[in-house]
Amino acid sequence: MSVAKQLYQLQEVDLELESNEQSLSRITSQLGKSKPVDEARDKLTVERQRLEEVGRQQHSVEWEIDDLTSKLTAIEKELYSGRIRNPKELTNLQHESDGLKAKRSQLEDKALEIMDQVELATRSVSTLTSELELLETEWQSQQQQLSAQLEQLKTVVSNLKHKREQLAAEIDPQAIEVYHELKKHRGTAVAKVEQGICRGCRISLPISELQQTRSGSLVRCSSCGRILYLA
Ligand SMILES: [Zn+2]
Repeated sequence: MSVAKQLYQLQEVDLELESNEQSLSRITSQLGKSKPVDEARDKLTVERQRLEEVGRQQHSVEWEIDDLTSKLTAIEKELYSGRIRNPKELTNLQHESDGLKAKRSQLEDKALEIMDQVELATRSVSTLTSELELLETEWQSQQQQLSAQLEQLKTVVSNLKHKREQLAAEIDPQAIEVYHELKKHRGTAVAKVEQGICRGCRISLPISELQQTRSGSLVRCSSCGRILYLA
């Protein structure tokens, strides 16, 4: 086998290796974190806090209403007990009762508003919880798929590395050095020759270069410097 063909095979393995290593790092970067799941979790936390807050407000208003009601009950009991005869005292008690009733009515309106807010927040928490569960399920199955792909790719990469080592061991070290140097500066080191043209730079090769290439010796394109490979 000509050195050019050996180097061409090496280049094919290198290209495959690079492409698989790129996939490997892409998948690695997708493992372990999820912006949508984190965002959904944050939204749910905020909404739960809001629900707790309105829940606290609801209890506090209800407590105030209960407190007023027991005060009112006591006053009314006093009013209708017949024990109080003094008209001024009765009028005062009546005023106090009216005032408490007005205050209780205000609080009852407030309680209704808060109840609406509690309902809204409860529904919102329930919707966001379902959304988060769905996202987490999707995320977990995606992670499992990615992990499986990752394992497969690791095997492919390891096999390719092994293949590369075997190929490289059979090639003249000096030729490999030239290959690496070209790869570094030109991206690809070995260019196919098709219809007398170097596929690396698309320039027609002189007859002498073509003949040398045909003979199997290591020839480099006089235009781009790449190693010429005639299939
Ligand atoms: Zn060329």
